[in-house]
Amino acid sequence: MIQPLTNQAFPAECGGPDDPFRHLRDDMAESQLAARGVLDPCVLEAMRRVPRHLFLPPDQADRAYLDQPLPIGQGQTISQPYMVACMTELLALQPGHRVLEIGTGSGYQTAVLALLAGGVVSVERLEPLLEEARKRLKYLGLDNISLHCGDGSLGFPEQAPYDAVLVTAACPKIPPALVDQLAEGGRLVAPVGPKDLQELVLGVKTGGKLTLRRQFGCRFVPLIGRQGWRDDSR
Ligand code: SAH
Repeated sequence: MIQPLTNQAFPAECGGPDDPFRHLRDDMAESQLAARGVLDPCVLEAMRRVPRHLFLPPDQADRAYLDQPLPIGQGQTISQPYMVACMTELLALQPGHRVLEIGTGSGYQTAVLALLAGGVVSVERLEPLLEEARKRLKYLGLDNISLHCGDGSLGFPEQAPYDAVLVTAACPKIPPALVDQLAEGGRLVAPVGPKDLQELVLGVKTGGKLTLRRQFGCRFVPLIGRQGWRDDSR
């Protein structure tokens, strides 16, 4: 059965007949996602709905639907649409699920998760990015998201357990705190490996332990924190 998207109505200029970016999103979903094997109809629908161009600095907005990651300021990036769709599909979200996202960044992935799950808790370490993301998500009227500034390598224990955990920054190894905060039967997706190249990993928690399945090679900005990489910039 196709699960409905959570009942979120965007402002009319986002997705209505006058949205000039709508056909670009339809093309993106077809040629970059469905054609490469993203099959979940709800994930495809969420990717068609979220106005990615609003999550970029204005000088990048016309590049929003290209098949690539893009800079969002503070040395960080918004992931390529295909990566966002794959990670989301691996989480196998249901409308009642509670999701923890580490690395809010632009808030784009957060919005995609919010259309598919019951609620999203997202943690970002850089306050300026978090504030921009907060404004965008508020403008879109997404009201099932809570955003927090802090070291997400430690998770967000206050609202644990989570049915799904998504890390959108590269981890040297899966942070134990995130495994602790994952519900039994829950799914965790994270890029794991050295700073220059990682592997996307899906973990399913059974009997208190994660069973890992490797997916494909990828490259993310580092997860900086107590259970991530050290901050070399200081
Ligand atoms: N999901 C984002 C992609 C963000 S890039 C999007 O759709 O735009 C990864 C983000 O992780 C960056 O914004 C970076 O600042 C953040 N990050 C890195 N280490 C972190 C940590 N320990 N806790 C929370 N966020 C972290």
